[in-house]
Amino acid sequence: MQNDTNAALVARDQAHLIHPLHSRAAHGDARVWVKGERATLVDANGKRYLDGLSGLWNNTAGNGCAALIHAATRQMEELAYASGYAGSSNPRAIELAERLAEITYPGINRFYFTSGGGESSDSNFKMARYYWKLRGKPEKTKVISRILGYHGVTLAAMSATGMSKYWPMFEPRVPGFVHIPSPYPYRYVPRTDAAPGLTQGQAAADELEKAILGEGPDTVAMFLAEPVQGAGGVIVPQDDYFPRIREICDRYDVLLVSDEVITGFGRTGRMFGLEHWGVEPDMIQFAKAITSGYFPLGGIGISDAIAAEMDAAGGAWMHAYTYSAHPVGCAVALAMLDLVEREDFPAQAASKGERLLRGLREGIGEHPNVGEIRGLGLMSAVELVADRETRAEFSAEEQLGARIHARAMERGLFSRMRDDVFCLAPPIAASEAEIDEIAAIVCAAIRDELG
Ligand code: PMP
Repeated sequence: MQNDTNAALVARDQAHLIHPLHSRAAHGDARVWVKGERATLVDANGKRYLDGLSGLWNNTAGNGCAALIHAATRQMEELAYASGYAGSSNPRAIELAERLAEITYPGINRFYFTSGGGESSDSNFKMARYYWKLRGKPEKTKVISRILGYHGVTLAAMSATGMSKYWPMFEPRVPGFVHIPSPYPYRYVPRTDAAPGLTQGQAAADELEKAILGEGPDTVAMFLAEPVQGAGGVIVPQDDYFPRIREICDRYDVLLVSDEVITGFGRTGRMFGLEHWGVEPDMIQFAKAITSGYFPLGGIGISDAIAAEMDAAGGAWMHAYTYSAHPVGCAVALAMLDLVEREDFPAQAASKGERLLRGLREGIGEHPNVGEIRGLGLMSAVELVADRETRAEFSAEEQLGARIHARAMERGLFSRMRDDVFCLAPPIAASEAEIDEIAAIVCAAIRDELG
C-alpha cells in the first residue's frame, strides 16, 4: 500500500488530541492541513482542496497574506505582550479602537477586546447586565436569541446558542436565556395568533415582542442576533425583519446586540451586516475576519449611551482577560483593516457572492432535491430537501449532507454542512476562477449522490 502520511498523522492525533466537536469515529478520515495558499489548503498527502468556508468563516484574506504576516512579526519584535488591564495600554490597541470607531455603526465608538467570538458574547451579556444595573433596573438580565443562532461555547454563549444539539451534554443551561424562532424565509410559518396582514418578516420579528411580553419587559436585558445566521445554515432575513426588531427593542427598552462575528468586515457585501437594512444596534460583537484568523482576536463595541453610563459610574468593570487588547492581535487587525479598505472587501464579497450564487443556480437550481439556493455577499448555501413541493427534509439517518460533503472532498472542496444545508463562505481574496470551481464542485457533488 502507498505510504499515507496523512493517515499516520491522524493515528498519532487520535492518541492525544481532543478536537472541537470531538468524535473519534468521524475523525478517522480527518485531513491534516500542512499548507495554505490563498484559497487553497493542502493536506499531509499533498492533495489540494479549495477552502469553501475560509477556514471557519474567518480567513477572508486567505492564507499566505504577506501584509498580515509582517504585521505580526514586526509587532512581536517590538512588543509581543504587555498587560491590557486598566492602568496599561499599547499603541496598537489604541489605534485599532480608533479605526473601529470610524468603520462600525456611527453610534458605536467604544471597544473592548477579547480572543474570539464566544468571549465576546459573554462580554456583552455582562456589559448589558452592568448597564441595566447602572440604570437602576437590576432585574433586566435575560437574553433573548434565536433558534439556529450560534454564539459560542462558553456556558452562557452555549445557552444563547439556538442550535439545540449543542446543549444536552452540558445541561442545565444558564437560566434566563430564551429563544425565539429564526425568521428563516424558506421555512418560517407565522403563528396562528400573529396579527393579520403582516408580512413573513414582520411576523417573525413579532416573535420577539411576544417573548419580551411573556418574560416581562422589566426582566429582559438584550436581544442577540446575527444579521445573517451563519452556522445555522446561512439564513438571510427578510428586508423588513430587522427594522421591526429595532422598533420592538426600543419599545421595551431592550438592547439590540448584533453578533457580527461572521458578518463583520465585509463578508455580506457591507462592512457590517445590519447596514443592509439601515439598522443601528446598541452593541456589537466581532471576531474571526478582523484578523482573518491569523491571530485569535475578538471584541465588543458599545453605544455612546452605554459608554456614558460606564463613565459616569466611575468604578471598575470587573471583567478581565489576559489577552484583551493583545498587541500582536491588534497589529494584525490594523493590517487587516488596511487590506479590507484598500481592496474593498465589501464590494469584492458582493460581486463574488453574486457570481457564486449564479454558478450554483445555473448548475443545480432546477434539481428536484434543491429546495433553496440563498446568500448575501460571499456567504451562501444550498438547502437540500427530500421533496421540493412540501420542503420535507431527508431523514437524519440518511446522512445525506455528510455524504455530499465527502463527495465534495473527493473532488477537492472543503467546507461545512448544517445537516443537509451546504454552507459556503470562501475567502474574499479567492479568484473568480476559484469561485467558479467551488460552484462546479458543489453541483457535481450533489449530483454524485442524488443523480
Ligand atoms: N458568534 C458567531 C456568529 C459565530 O459564528 C461564532 C463562531 N462560529 C461565534 C460567535 C463563536 O466564536 P468563537 O468560536 O471564536 O468563540
